[in-house]
Amino acid sequence: MKQAHEAVSALEKHLGRGTLPARGWAAALDLVAPRRRSSRQTPEDSRLSTEGPATFVNREPHELSALLEAEQRSESRAALLRKLAAWWLKRLEQNGVPPNGGRLLDEQSVYQLRRISGVSQELADRIRLFAIGEPVVPVGRAALRVGCRHAWCELNSEQEEWQAWLRNWAAVAEIELWQLVLWIDEVGSRWCGPQPRCEGCPLAEFLPPGGPREPEA
Ligand code: SF4
Repeated sequence: MKQAHEAVSALEKHLGRGTLPARGWAAALDLVAPRRRSSRQTPEDSRLSTEGPATFVNREPHELSALLEAEQRSESRAALLRKLAAWWLKRLEQNGVPPNGGRLLDEQSVYQLRRISGVSQELADRIRLFAIGEPVVPVGRAALRVGCRHAWCELNSEQEEWQAWLRNWAAVAEIELWQLVLWIDEVGSRWCGPQPRCEGCPLAEFLPPGGPREPEA
């Protein structure tokens, strides 16, 4: 647990604390159909961000595709967004679920979310963590690489073990889970890609003897 505390301190020292974007439907929209990096539009320019899920359900698919494209978002996400909006209205708003805090979704709601075509386990967990506020770890490539290369987890570890790894770190270091996930994502994009570039990485001092283990090894 000492190492968890020190590793989180190293992440904070190198990367600084971020700001949690507002939760709710607009956050789900940005997770499913983020704006392209080349976009010069600001968040305030987004008409879609100001609209609730009901509008997405009621729009014709071609109209929604055109609006997504106009905002430099992937128009191919239109069908997924309509289904997700219908799920959101049924499972969250009609059940009076508040926009943040605690474990909120029942098993049936999670099951229905995962059944939406195009919603992977990772995307579902990102929506649950960042848009709804549940304490869920989205296990994506960054977490897989960091966890395996440091032997904090194994590639074939159960989903519960991956969840426990970062949840325990967050609890021990008293840091918000979303912040920890953002740090791991940043480590993944800046240092821990297909080939690890450990020099200068905030987690370099926590490597196992002999250096990073390869996930496939
Ligand atoms: S120290 Fe190396 S293996 Fe560890 S997270 Fe950084 S880049 Fe990846």
